Amino acid sequence: MSVKRVIEGVHLIPMGMANAYLIEGDGGLTLIDAGYPHKEAVVFGAIRGIGRSPDQLEHLIFTHGHPDHIGSAAAIVRETGARTYMHPLDIRIAEGGGPFRPLRAAPGLLQHVLCNLLYHPDERVQPVAIDRPLTPGEILPIAGGFEVIHTPGHCAGHVALLWRPGRMLFTGDVCMNIMGLGDPVGFESLQEGRASQRKLASLSFDSAGFGHGEPILRDASTRFYNKWARKNQVDRREAA
Ligand SMILES: [Zn+2]
Ligand SMILES: [Zn+2]
Repeated sequence: MSVKRVIEGVHLIPMGMANAYLIEGDGGLTLIDAGYPHKEAVVFGAIRGIGRSPDQLEHLIFTHGHPDHIGSAAAIVRETGARTYMHPLDIRIAEGGGPFRPLRAAPGLLQHVLCNLLYHPDERVQPVAIDRPLTPGEILPIAGGFEVIHTPGHCAGHVALLWRPGRMLFTGDVCMNIMGLGDPVGFESLQEGRASQRKLASLSFDSAGFGHGEPILRDASTRFYNKWARKNQVDRREAA
């Protein structure tokens, strides 16, 4: 179970409880997120599994600076020389290998359990240098174009990435799809997190890949719309 095709040109790399995604562009390969520590061999195996070689990995884009998304980054960069991208608000975390900001568990039993199980702000990972800060709203000229959408809440420097040629949204931890589409394990700010979910629900895309859980292959933006665009009731409930 080293690599799984999602749509044409996109492969999911299962890295324990977290996902990374490998995208085949015209030139080299792009990796979104870098999983937990000590998972670099899984990434290299996945690259070979689609008939390419690790030195063809050119870009490593991070959705945010949490241990389960940057854990193997330093080792991957050492081997491949990939160029790294991250929102400025999380760069200090990546380049220090921590410390990580505290999270408050999201509403719901599953989120509480997973947050305690998976997220440890005192964890440290190998530091990774960031070559290129991301600018919200820009279209990265990589693999036909990734739109950078700033989506704070779970993490201040969080971005979602919309891959335009394949109409696929990479949500990072704005939400997850474990036992259904829902909240990530926790938030730095629930209010900002809700605003980011609504922002994604206003976009048009076909498929969605999550930092945690199974991808949605079609009609994904309809699912997001139904979950978050008509969110007034939920907001009222949470305010009560
Ligand atoms: Zn996270
Ligand atoms: Zn995560």
